[in-house]
Amino acid sequence: MQFQNTLDFARELDEKDALKSYRASFHFPQVDGKDVIYFTGNSLGLQPKITRDYVDEIMTSWKELAVEGHFKAAKPWWDYHERLAAPLARVVGAKTNEISVMNTLTVNLHLLMVSFYRPTAKRFKIICEEKAFPSDQYMLDSQVRFHGLDPKETLVPIKKRNGEHFWRTEDVLEKIAETGDTLALVLIGGVNYYNGQVFDMKAITAAGKAVGAFVGWDLAHAAGNIELELHDWNVDFAAWCSYKYMNSGPGNASGVFIHQRHLNKTDIPRFEGWWGTKKETRFLMKPNFEPIDTADAWQLSNPPILSLAPYLASLEMFDKVGMKALVEKRDKIVAYLEFVLQEIDKEVESSFEIITPESRGCQLSVFLHGEGKPLFEYLMKHGVITDWREPNVIRLAPAPFYCSFEDMYRFGQILKDGILG
Ligand SMILES: *Cc1c(COP(=O)(O)O)cnc(C)c1O
Repeated sequence: MQFQNTLDFARELDEKDALKSYRASFHFPQVDGKDVIYFTGNSLGLQPKITRDYVDEIMTSWKELAVEGHFKAAKPWWDYHERLAAPLARVVGAKTNEISVMNTLTVNLHLLMVSFYRPTAKRFKIICEEKAFPSDQYMLDSQVRFHGLDPKETLVPIKKRNGEHFWRTEDVLEKIAETGDTLALVLIGGVNYYNGQVFDMKAITAAGKAVGAFVGWDLAHAAGNIELELHDWNVDFAAWCSYKYMNSGPGNASGVFIHQRHLNKTDIPRFEGWWGTKKETRFLMKPNFEPIDTADAWQLSNPPILSLAPYLASLEMFDKVGMKALVEKRDKIVAYLEFVLQEIDKEVESSFEIITPESRGCQLSVFLHGEGKPLFEYLMKHGVITDWREPNVIRLAPAPFYCSFEDMYRFGQILKDGILG
């Protein structure tokens, strides 16, 4: 399709957009009495309008039923989390028994490392991406030190080539083969938070398995953004947060995936708690741990129902729309944003460089040559919510659920005014 950088053309695309009605299902912050142009759904998704009802429902059943809400609420609390597993499995390409919702992301990565990082004298190395998200770096470093190992000798960061902004799959595969039988674990962000790159998870997982390592993925920027086939790709484990593309509210609960082949094992090390035991015997308060035969065996505590409610609200929306339709619109709106950026680039003196490679999801990371933080501040002041990463990169993620093509056009005009002054 031949795009045009005009308001009429953008509106025409909105007219044809199969998801256009969903925009009205979200609350937008306002600047100067107008909805903002929201590019930070990769950081904190907007609030769906239905979410408050889901939270109110819990508040009401707590008020009216108190402890009896565990079993007598309309959606009983004691197995409330199980309602999230099936729709979440559809988002990440898993079987329902491979999914659990618990804790928060970094906590879950630590818990999964307990199970899947068991270094031996010979096999102890971890392949990760260079300059991973800071929390992942701290998590990996502290896990390695916890085992009495030296992060410098243990962590094998995959580097980008000189002058390039992305990782090459062949370099990852080569490093895996080279590390061979000293490789214990591959743990990478499936979609890199900085450049928006989507890693070839299928190929990398296969390569890791081929040398006998475990392979896990941090899917913070992937869940709800790209199509995943975690079960079929043979991934060992994965975890993600729910507040980015999954619109479940600040700091909210994390989802985990544990491949079916690791379930129902009594020999797998795991930190355990009462919510991981079989439901039938849980309240007998017996001394021995009898794991549930699903990923819920990794649950520790009785879950925070007030947090799960917004996640359930969001998942029901994802289920209605489906990842396929979201991905279809995502590709089109990101392509239009890219086009608008290129058109504006021709009209202004400075130049933008899109550092996101072709293998991408919702996010374009743009290097603003010759522009600094004042431009970012100008955008924010004029109702364009982006984020800034040093030295001068803005990340733009037009979430397909609620962003419009008109937003992309309007953004281009505001950007131009911000540069030309
Ligand atoms: C957002 C993000 C996190 C955040 O972790 P929390 O434990 O939810 O604070 C971790 N890792 C990556 C790659 C992220 O993008």
